[in-house]
Amino acid sequence: MVTLTHGQFVAIGSVALVALCYAVAAPGPSHRATQRSHDDAVSRREATVKPSLQVDACRAVANSLGQRLPADWNVVVHEPFVLGGDCSADSLDATYHETILPTVRALSIQYFDHAPTWPITILLCSTDASYRECNQRLEARERSEYSGIYSRTEHRLVVNVATGDGTLAHELTHALAHADFPTLPEWLDEGLASLHEECEFSADGLRLVGLDNWRGTALREACQREPLRSVSDLASNRFAASDRAATDYAHTRYFCLFLQQKRLLEPFYRKCRSRVETDPTGIDSLCELFATTHSREIEVQFTEWLAKSAGAGGPSLSRRAD
Ligand SMILES: [Zn+2]
Repeated sequence: MVTLTHGQFVAIGSVALVALCYAVAAPGPSHRATQRSHDDAVSRREATVKPSLQVDACRAVANSLGQRLPADWNVVVHEPFVLGGDCSADSLDATYHETILPTVRALSIQYFDHAPTWPITILLCSTDASYRECNQRLEARERSEYSGIYSRTEHRLVVNVATGDGTLAHELTHALAHADFPTLPEWLDEGLASLHEECEFSADGLRLVGLDNWRGTALREACQREPLRSVSDLASNRFAASDRAATDYAHTRYFCLFLQQKRLLEPFYRKCRSRVETDPTGIDSLCELFATTHSREIEVQFTEWLAKSAGAGGPSLSRRAD
């Protein structure tokens, strides 16, 4: 029984979303990047032809899932979401009302103006074993190197809840961003999703506020080994190659945290979306927000901020999944 505990993690107030996400466990082979590229191409085509969401579409997904998942799993529909898991239907309903709905509301206020027009499947697995079984049944792949996966072709999250509740927030951010901004640059997509691995609601419950987490330590350790990539390089060239995936994830998460603290993250996302045809990496919009023509000036500010924030609170390593 995972859900009540699970649902508590986004109770409105000061409760933090604590989590770990995939890419941490073992950055591993580059197959996710490959999958992502393929999925991107498919999803961009899909985005132009998807019909409006119908309740029937959700029910069809639920019926299909019922045939593919273990017999004792439950599936419930809360349009546009189809939730399934190795827990009771009541627990799935509680997760929807206590966790998913307030998170979706906050993210729609902050970033996402376009609601999904397709069903989004959310599968919650309470143990490592059920997570493995779920992925094997759906994809014939184990996926145990990750704690959560979002498939852009299937519009489906599979989350290993046992690894930490914030994994759901990470993958849910991907799913909603996909619907809102299908061509969102990967570096920003992963930065936003990773930011929400550990966050809390604002006092009025209308916003998610990212917090420091273990990736900060990983990033600072990486900085001591060698200089970070430039922001321009992070945004313009391959993201999360297998030999630097952990550093790239930490880098983009902390860059989003830096923008959040400057109150620039939300306007940056929207500028990026509105100008993606002429500024596909977002760097031009970033320079405009910082009133500079040189992204190097932004990097200097970020590096100084990162160094100063090292002693403020200190990230927790206690729940790292690797
Ligand atoms: Zn991600």
